[in-house]
Amino acid sequence: MKKCPGCGYSRLYQLADGRHKCKRCGHRFRWRSVWSASRLSDATKHELLRRFVWGVPVYRQRFGALASAPAIERFYRLVRACMAWAEEFREPFAGAVECDETTFGGARHGKRGWGAAGKVIVFGIVKRNGQVKAMPIAAHSRAEVMRHIQAHTREGALYYTDEWQAYATLKLRGEHVVIRKEKGKPVGRDHINGIEGFWSYAKNWLYPYRGVPRKYFHLYLGEVCYRFNHRTDDLKPLLVKLLKTTSIQDISPKLVQIR
Ligand SMILES: [Zn+2]
Repeated sequence: MKKCPGCGYSRLYQLADGRHKCKRCGHRFRWRSVWSASRLSDATKHELLRRFVWGVPVYRQRFGALASAPAIERFYRLVRACMAWAEEFREPFAGAVECDETTFGGARHGKRGWGAAGKVIVFGIVKRNGQVKAMPIAAHSRAEVMRHIQAHTREGALYYTDEWQAYATLKLRGEHVVIRKEKGKPVGRDHINGIEGFWSYAKNWLYPYRGVPRKYFHLYLGEVCYRFNHRTDDLKPLLVKLLKTTSIQDISPKLVQIR
């Protein structure tokens, strides 16, 4: 949706020179979609998107390349930023939800476990039999996890988690079922298979990319959430529409490199 970059209002005048004028604050601006912000030809963008939907990484396109590898990377970065941006607007979850944390990446050698160099810690929430939200967390921090739970779930939800201390106060917010595990297997009938299924889905998607750059990890995570949440849809038309209706201004904060 077209919005005023000054005040966020969405009712606009169309000016004769192609610009828009905000009906509330009078700000004049040029609205540019992500699609038109990329200077590749339309045919190239359509074909690149098709390959992206199939999961063909840039290095596997080298013999049928439609553009230089950096140009394709740049275009895919825009696509991922749109997907990550769209995922942010997903409504908070109610009902039965599963929360869990995991790590992505990191070398096989060196330190292991939480905080090991090169790893990214990710917190995720799955609505039972439904959709997912996942976000990188800066530290293995209780406060940050609770902040995400408050932002992304509704009060009164039924939470399924593992035994981690960070979840100790969840019973104040809703019902809380703690899954105890012995030798990696849950004890009893309760489980967090939904979020664990998403972790393996995400890791399988990211593996062929051969090492996701840490500074853009948040975009790749947005991509896999979007793919998972649209897993029964044909992504190609959805992505064309997303790129044409998203403003380059909206996603530019996402393109800032993290650390
Ligand atoms: Zn305005």
